Amino acid sequence: MKVVVIGAGVVGLSTAVCIQETYANCDVTVMSEKFPPEDIVSLVAGGVILGTIDPSANKDTQIKVMCDTSRHFLKLSADDRYQIHGVMKVDGVYAKITPTYGQQLSDAERPISSRVFGKAVLLSGWHVKSVCVDTRRYLPYLLNKFHRNGGHIRRCKVHSFSQVAQEYDVIINCTGLGSRELARDSNMYPVKGQLLRMETEGKVTNFNYFIDLFKKTENSHTSFYFLPHGNEVVVGGSYIKDVEDRNVDADLSRELEAMARQLHPGMKKAEILQEYTGIRPLRRGGIRIEKEFKCLEGKTIPIIHNYGHGGYGVGGSWGSALQVAELLAPEIQKKSKL
Ligand SMILES: Cc1cc2nc3c(=O)[nH]c(=O)nc-3n(C[C@H](O)[C@H](O)[C@H](O)COP(=O)(O)OP(=O)(O)OC[C@H]3O[C@@H](n4cnc5c(N)ncnc54)[C@H](O)[C@@H]3O)c2cc1C
Repeated sequence: MKVVVIGAGVVGLSTAVCIQETYANCDVTVMSEKFPPEDIVSLVAGGVILGTIDPSANKDTQIKVMCDTSRHFLKLSADDRYQIHGVMKVDGVYAKITPTYGQQLSDAERPISSRVFGKAVLLSGWHVKSVCVDTRRYLPYLLNKFHRNGGHIRRCKVHSFSQVAQEYDVIINCTGLGSRELARDSNMYPVKGQLLRMETEGKVTNFNYFIDLFKKTENSHTSFYFLPHGNEVVVGGSYIKDVEDRNVDADLSRELEAMARQLHPGMKKAEILQEYTGIRPLRRGGIRIEKEFKCLEGKTIPIIHNYGHGGYGVGGSWGSALQVAELLAPEIQKKSKL
């Protein structure tokens, strides 16, 4: 069975490896315009595994995808080769996480009070045990695993599914925002985010995530969060709908920096390594994990879509890959009967 996964972000690479691990007889190719370490939004992500529920999307699917991914990363965090996989267990505080979802994610949450944060304006939230993923390590880790499992890679932009229909039995679409054009999905839209990367004096192992902390308008908000990545900390960040330029807002950087220095002793004198932006692949209606059959170049071919992960693509990556593997099962059975 020849499967092509289009896209080499965290969703595409997770899907490709998950298929290899589920079906030993699948011959998997990842075809992508860009591969890590090139400029892919998955390498921008802060990579904290938390979940908020998108009210426009199916709640049960979202919870399953997030919980399956959490389990995957928790297991990986027990392997002490952090430098290789980039997955670290963290304790932290998340404000405005919904109690229902929090209970399903872990039993470690408990209410907190505002005094925990000194001058911060936070009113309520939860203590959370989670994991933080440094995707600059995790993506190469996935890519290496994919190679070791016998996978192939091909660098090219796919302009239409017809381009690959003849060569493969199944097409899997993990192109993130690229699905606006490739799948002609007008529900996809960009959401810009800006972050800082700071080098701390000692290792930081906790995180804070205060959602919607300041600058809230109809189309944007700025949360404040810091997420540990080894001896570095990612500080964010903004969320601006329908903006796709990659310019850095210097004033926002200074606000985030001031907040970080105020809230964490390890960041008081931390050096700023990078100020950067990325574009989240949002989708009205939530993640699309769905199979369709298309007649292309005279051949009927299954296309399994897995895109539109918005601000939770790392947090939903392995769970949605598992769902793709399930959707692939009937195709494998059909092929084995031929
Ligand atoms: C500032 C910021 C902070 C974030 N923080 C977090 C966080 O803390 N936790 C979290 O879970 N998520 C976070 N995210 C979101 C996360 O980065 C995304 O949800 C995730 O990276 C989406 O992954 P993806 O693989 O779907 O897309 P991408 O990473 O965009 O990968 C898409 C791939 O498809 C390829 N491609 C696209 N179109 C084509 C085509 N036509 N032909 C061939 N190849 C194509 C691209 O080259 C790329 O390889 C954050 C995002 C931003 C911007």
